[in-house]
Amino acid sequence: MRCESLELVKEKILRACERSGRSVSDVKLLGASKTVPAERLREFYECGLHVFGENRVQEFLKKYEELESFDIEWHFIGRLQSNKVKYIIDKVVLIHSLDRESLAKEIQKRAERLGRVQEVLVEVNVGNEESKGGVKTEQLEEFISRVLELKNLKVIGLMCIPPYMENPEDVRPFFGRLRDLRDKLGTRLGIPLGELSMGMSHDFEVAIEEGATIVRVGSLLFGERG
Ligand SMILES: *Cc1c(COP(=O)(O)O)cnc(C)c1O
Repeated sequence: MRCESLELVKEKILRACERSGRSVSDVKLLGASKTVPAERLREFYECGLHVFGENRVQEFLKKYEELESFDIEWHFIGRLQSNKVKYIIDKVVLIHSLDRESLAKEIQKRAERLGRVQEVLVEVNVGNEESKGGVKTEQLEEFISRVLELKNLKVIGLMCIPPYMENPEDVRPFFGRLRDLRDKLGTRLGIPLGELSMGMSHDFEVAIEEGATIVRVGSLLFGERG
């Protein structure tokens, strides 16, 4: 396979970093690989993409097994049911979608059993959309302070899926809002909230200009989903 789409995305990341005076080493590209078969992920792996994020537990477990011999950094980026935490907790480096206390408690319980600390991002509903998951902005501080009491969970940043806008420029304020929340709460709670997981295929360049440290790119890398 030629690595064209990966090279294209990396080039766009580089240019967005240059425009905003950021270092390209501060932005991690995550391949959002839902519906993409393991075989194709292996091709991307060989092109140099080693970070993938999955949305569905079943699908993730299957690919995890199929690609076990590769040194892949797996993330979980989809909505997570509490009763599925036990299947993924020893396999992912980061859960992007912590959005409720019951889930936090379950992750705490499972991580404690394994004697490890699970890194998580809190998903924020930056558009305060009824239809979307994520913690509402006005409840965020209280939510994070409660999660901080759980010793086997480490909140290292925030994630968002902003409202879809035809023009990526219109998404910019939502990315800016997530960054401001991160800065403000990091200071108020006295914890380093370094990571900002934001930006997908059609808006990751704007997200980088607004401070994204992880961009989750699917269709632009792997092609449109069927
Ligand atoms: C599918 C998905 C992406 C990637 O979306 P694209 O538009 O295909 O780049 C990013 N984040 C999450 C949470 C997703 O589910």
